Amino acid sequence: LKGAQARLAELLEKADSAVAFTGAGISTECGIPDFRSPGGLWTQNKPIPFDVFVAHKAARNEAWRRRFAMDEAFGSARPGRGHAALARLLRRGRLAGVITQNIDGLHQASGVPDEHLVELHGNGTYATCLDCGARYELEWVKQRFEASGGIAPDCPECGGPIKAATISFGQAMPEREMMRAEMLTLEADLFIVIGSSLVVFPAAGFPLKAHHNGAKLVIINREPTEFDHMAELVVRSEIGDVLAHFAQDG
Ligand code: NAD
Ligand code: ZN
Repeated sequence: LKGAQARLAELLEKADSAVAFTGAGISTECGIPDFRSPGGLWTQNKPIPFDVFVAHKAARNEAWRRRFAMDEAFGSARPGRGHAALARLLRRGRLAGVITQNIDGLHQASGVPDEHLVELHGNGTYATCLDCGARYELEWVKQRFEASGGIAPDCPECGGPIKAATISFGQAMPEREMMRAEMLTLEADLFIVIGSSLVVFPAAGFPLKAHHNGAKLVIINREPTEFDHMAELVVRSEIGDVLAHFAQDG
């Protein structure tokens, strides 16, 4: 582990523009399960595709039921050692930005400013109307959901469906976030993948693009990924253990 940390420190030192690309693995030590590990969210519930959510009230009711059940389980999650390390590297000018697939809001909570953060799959800590874009706080949705005995509320402005501000399977990727991720990726000379199985596209296309563009690739993940052979450095350990070193002062 010490050797990997030293090598990573050296790569960060030499880089002009380092970018971190995070997945569910950075948040598992915070108590939020990832998708594909045994017992992960994936194995418990089949995700509700976007078109089904839009077409069926029953699907919306179920989606919100799951969302609030999730809050009960890990709504109080706090940033972990990986989040803290990235926030600190950003503050010290060692990182140009963080691209995340996560929807848990823990990068913001750890102090990564919005202008340095790209949330490819949106943010599950608030909701929007799919028709008019009005924003609703989860507390607002929850009150109506519970008062009606589990019926998803529609938008009071336009009657449209209200959805957590996350990107579901089958839903278009957010254009602005995709463009920002693309810019960061093309400027990067060091691209550090942290806790992603790299099987969800288009997100997983960014490390690939960085590599083809000449950036050095680092992969920190407890399991092997399809991209390991392209990487300058593969660290197959616990993310918190690897990055704790970079969260400390000095
Ligand atoms: P994934 O679940 O497919 O992959 C996570 C990877 O991290 C796995 O390969 C696993 O071995 C590794 N990992 C888990 N904990 C680790 C640890 N402590 N140390 C080292 N490695 C660890 O996640 P993904 O690639 O991000 O794709 C899943 C999709 O699901 C994403 O699109 C994301 O939007 C969504 N998701 C988000 C959250 C969240 O916001 N926290 C949680 C689950 C799923
Ligand atoms: Zn509306």
